[in-house]
Amino acid sequence: MTIKAGLIGSPLKRSLSPQLFKLLSSRPGERYSYTLLETRAAGLERALNTIKREGWAGFNVTLPLKEKILTSLDALSSEAEAIRAVNAVRLRNGKLKGDNTDAAALRLALKGAGCRPRGRTCVIWGAGGAARTAAWVLGSGGAGSVQIRNRTFSRAAALVKYFSGLFPRTKFSARKFTAAPAGTATVFVNATPLGMYAPLAACLKFSGPPGSFYLDLAYTLGTSPFLKDRDGTTIPGLDLLIYQALKSAELYSGRPIKAAKIVKLKDRLKTRLLSGK
Ligand code: NAP
Repeated sequence: MTIKAGLIGSPLKRSLSPQLFKLLSSRPGERYSYTLLETRAAGLERALNTIKREGWAGFNVTLPLKEKILTSLDALSSEAEAIRAVNAVRLRNGKLKGDNTDAAALRLALKGAGCRPRGRTCVIWGAGGAARTAAWVLGSGGAGSVQIRNRTFSRAAALVKYFSGLFPRTKFSARKFTAAPAGTATVFVNATPLGMYAPLAACLKFSGPPGSFYLDLAYTLGTSPFLKDRDGTTIPGLDLLIYQALKSAELYSGRPIKAAKIVKLKDRLKTRLLSGK
């Protein structure tokens, strides 16, 4: 059976999702027809009507719609509701349910790298949807403190207020985008497009002691500028992208992937994606 799925947002021309879902179609009994539906905020309702009319099983959501789509959905998973950002939507019986598979992807990637957030000092650059998801995963993982640095300071401050209410045991604070992190920081997250769509700002090369963790949400096919020359464990955005696609595919197909298999499957897809086969 062919499962209709796709991606909405804009711009989509550099998206790797069609290739990922094509590779996923080689799993027995799972075959995707994956459509890119270029959609800006003003065209969201029209896109949702098209998706319903064409009977898609579900779809991914990217910039600039991850927060905007919240009010157009019939239901939200508890995690999407808490994060206030949606990157995967399942369509069943004409109803749209939003989820956040980026959060599950982040947890899988941190676990795979041997990074347990509990008690750690963490730094996030950015205050958009990706930063919200990172703040949620670090807060719910028991991080000791999370410093949020954003070009527009007021957005960082708004995130700090929101997540301090959700996780009172984690000390959230807003800092200037360019300020040097505290010396105790050991987890560094790039949740901006810098290094992917624009050159990396010098402040994103601040580093922690040897053995720190560096996680880039921006993804590139080679080593990203944020992860280059780090004395520590690096977690590429491509791993997160593949994990979120796998978790989204579970929603669309209704077929769970065994926890023990997901890392191997991610590695296999990554090898094939990088080799272009
Ligand atoms: P978003 O909601 O638009 O937020 C973008 C953030 O980046 C904002 O905080 C923005 O600051 C900051 N920013 C943008 N341009 C900047 C610049 N030139 N200098 C400094 N800061 C800048 O986007 P998002 O959804 O959070 O996504 C952020 C990045 O993560 C994107 O590259 C996206 O592709 C990537 N991502 C990857 C995955 C994955 O699976 N690997 C998943 C999610 C997102 P202001 O508030 O000042 O505008």
